[in-house]
Amino acid sequence: MSADWFDSLVNELARLPGIGRRTAARLAFALVDDRELARSLSEVLRQTFERIHECPECRNLTDAERCSICTDLSRNASVCVVENVADLRSIDDAGLFRGRFFVLHGLLSPLDGIGPSQLGIDRLSALVRSLSAPEVILALDATADGEATCSWLGRSLEGSGARVTRLARGLPAGASVEMIDAGTLTQAFEGRQKV
Ligand SMILES: [Zn+2]
Repeated sequence: MSADWFDSLVNELARLPGIGRRTAARLAFALVDDRELARSLSEVLRQTFERIHECPECRNLTDAERCSICTDLSRNASVCVVENVADLRSIDDAGLFRGRFFVLHGLLSPLDGIGPSQLGIDRLSALVRSLSAPEVILALDATADGEATCSWLGRSLEGSGARVTRLARGLPAGASVEMIDAGTLTQAFEGRQKV
């Protein structure tokens, strides 16, 4: 077995979060042993990433014109702002919130060159106004970048007519929304405070 192609397979797999080199090597061997699995996996990856794009209203990822949340008429007009699609899924799957979402795809981080325009503030303001949202819930990580983003969004949404709240009690300092358990997330939602 030539090392080149195997190493590059392991290198790519090891770039995924939570996958160390040993696990990456195990996955690579599994794919080598099951060519049919490797073929269908690569086809699903190719098709998925050709099709998906940001929903024009909420920046969730979708393969339709608008995402399944924005087209769900049973949802209320409040908006929950999240950092990424993983956080959206955690909150939606926990059934804590039956309104609309908005995905920032990052947090304010001047050192990394992430400013207001990358986070889609114009689209968030447009969504809040078009829904006449009674409340905007900032469900962001309890980190320095999360805090900075909450303060900035609170100021940016002044005058939008919405009550801007943020997750509070239960979210430990430094916690990431995606990683906390459903019970803690429920507490954080119930204890949300005005920004
Ligand atoms: Zn959407």
